[in-house]
Amino acid sequence: MSAAAERPSPALRTEAMEALLVERGLVDPAVMDRFITTYERDVGPLNGAKVVARAWTDPEYRERLLADGTPAIAELGFGGPQGEHIVVLEQTDDVHHVVVCTLCSCYPWPVLGLPPSWYKDPAYRARVVREPRTVLYEMGLDLPAGKRIEVWDSSAEVRYLVLPQRPAGTDGWDADALAGLVTRDAMVGVATVAAP
Ligand code: FE
Repeated sequence: MSAAAERPSPALRTEAMEALLVERGLVDPAVMDRFITTYERDVGPLNGAKVVARAWTDPEYRERLLADGTPAIAELGFGGPQGEHIVVLEQTDDVHHVVVCTLCSCYPWPVLGLPPSWYKDPAYRARVVREPRTVLYEMGLDLPAGKRIEVWDSSAEVRYLVLPQRPAGTDGWDADALAGLVTRDAMVGVATVAAP
């Protein structure tokens, strides 16, 4: 058995760490529970979907969003921890953006909620940088050979939100209807938004 296999699970290790922090009086368990519940239940990719739908329906908003993401996102009421500096990357016919955190799992919480497990997976973090086309293909996204792929490495300072391309067949749709089409994966860049 390898050394790694003998180590306690991350969940157990996290619990032990939390117990220590509480014991030393460094964190209040009630505050911690409230924080986790908020991000699990109330903050999720729907926030990001609203940002995307607004950008699709309001050209001036889209310009503000691409020029400086954080204040434009705050216009819709979204902001806070892990979202202090959000840069928005626009998908085009020529370029496809995909986001990773090679170091850990930095992610724009106020617009996407908590990161999915694959985003934290060491295999995704290492491979998407080296062979993005293959990784995206394995995740179900087959990009045209001529399309350039840009991989963006998140950090504690900068988080990224991908603005997907608006799908065909949605002319005349309002922002609420459009938001319903936008998925978390499209806003990380591992998927596109499918036509309805
Ligand atoms: Fe990170």
